[in-house]
Amino acid sequence: LRLSLASLGEVPAGVDTPFYSRDDLSAGIVHFGIGNFHRAHQAIYLDDLFNLGLDRDFAIVGAGVLPSDALMRERLAGQDYLTTVVEQEAGRSSARITGPMIDFLPPGNAAATIERLADPAIRIVSLTITEGGYFIDPATGVFNPAHPAIAADAAAPEAPATVFGLILAGLKARRDRGIPPFTVMSCDNIPGNGEVTCNAVAGLADLIDPALAAHVRANVAFPNGMVDRITPATTDREREILLRDFGIEDTWPVFCEDFKQWVLEDHFPLGRPAFEKVGVTFVEDVAPFEHMKIRILNGGHATIAYPAALMDIHFVHEAMEDPLIRAFLRKLETEEIIPVIPPVPGVVLADYFELIERRFSNPKIGDTIARLCLDGSNRQPKFILPSTRDRLKAGAPVTGLTLVSALWCRYCEGTSDSGRIIAPNDESAARLKQAALAARSDFRAFLALTDIFGTLGDDPVFARSFATALESLHSRGTKATLEAYIGGRL
Ligand code: NAD
Repeated sequence: LRLSLASLGEVPAGVDTPFYSRDDLSAGIVHFGIGNFHRAHQAIYLDDLFNLGLDRDFAIVGAGVLPSDALMRERLAGQDYLTTVVEQEAGRSSARITGPMIDFLPPGNAAATIERLADPAIRIVSLTITEGGYFIDPATGVFNPAHPAIAADAAAPEAPATVFGLILAGLKARRDRGIPPFTVMSCDNIPGNGEVTCNAVAGLADLIDPALAAHVRANVAFPNGMVDRITPATTDREREILLRDFGIEDTWPVFCEDFKQWVLEDHFPLGRPAFEKVGVTFVEDVAPFEHMKIRILNGGHATIAYPAALMDIHFVHEAMEDPLIRAFLRKLETEEIIPVIPPVPGVVLADYFELIERRFSNPKIGDTIARLCLDGSNRQPKFILPSTRDRLKAGAPVTGLTLVSALWCRYCEGTSDSGRIIAPNDESAARLKQAALAARSDFRAFLALTDIFGTLGDDPVFARSFATALESLHSRGTKATLEAYIGGRL
């Protein structure tokens, strides 16, 4: 059965369909970054709410920015913006067709996007544009106004090409027309994602019009949020499973784990969907939750990604079946990462880690090591190096964390231990490879990437530990190095 509104009535038994019709919905949210995660997370919470008969005036309008979004739009438009989401537990999968998206603005038409953003019905603008999408200088952690794409938007604010240029133009149009500003809600894995988004929108406005920048800082809400649900990329494998097991032909289904979590600050001046009715936790301060999640879960992903890639392991659950990788993760989390995480209200961190261990081990999700390895230049500084810095400040050992960075360096050479070629998957891939190859003779060449490591390379404890780990990876390989670390001999 080919997915469309017209075919919804014929969906095979066992697959859930929306309890609402398209006519029941009206737009309330514009979302940038209609990828897999958004459709497995925010869109599911909304689908749950709409199914309860609530807040149906908060339907989603997708908005494309990158040229590649045109393909996503075409595919989703071809199935009336419906998405099949397959939620996978260890022993069971269930499929549901979701329909909270009602339109998708194609990339490349700034005027149409700005007009939609100015529509008073739009009360929330949300984003999942990846960690790399925020124009943050990785070493300083601060918005980089000198980025060429930002400079281009500053020079032509009426025809912006970045998300932040579009959001700013939408906010300006609303201010000029006397319409109160929408709330901007980032759902990316970035500590302080609300503040980071505010810095990007207001930072761009600083370059254009100080009064507009002041308006953004004073009047626009940017709630921080912690989001969680492991959502792999879609491949033909998923399309085939969906057709075989559920009888549905969807051009871009989403497969994800059954677990999901969303902790959010309640700062929505124009109102929001009643997310608390469908499992979202509202808190005063998201920071402790984010801290925990980014360091334990995302840091954990970064920990297993590179040794698994170097050992030619394909799926994440296969990495977790490898006793060395599993033991590496456990030792590093319990001895180095968790001890420097401040307490989180109502959470036992050791239990949280055990849940993560189980989630990573779920064989049904089909998450790939290649996905976890993506974009290390943006991920190491956010997921690993902050733990390293905290420990160094406390005078505590960093052997395991430094080994993670050394494994990443070894991975950036572009070959696994067996000599398999690893395809480049980072915006800085060429630069990383050059530095990683130079580090074969002098480890300092990699730590000299100060946009990633900042001044960490100057720390004698970190530098010595990195040199030892990298030398071991070069001389003994990944397995023997992990064994040495686990045995306390690195
Ligand atoms: P995806 O590749 O399916 O989608 C990424 C989306 O971001 C695409 O729509 C793309 O066009 C857009 N994008 C990328 N760079 C952009 C830029 N510079 N400007 C504007 N748009 C840009 O990836 P995904 O799985 O949807 O993940 C996206 C983000 O969601 C992650 O980077 C992370 O911050 C967050 N997230 C993902 C997961 C997960 O398991 N996949 C879990 C928690 C949080």
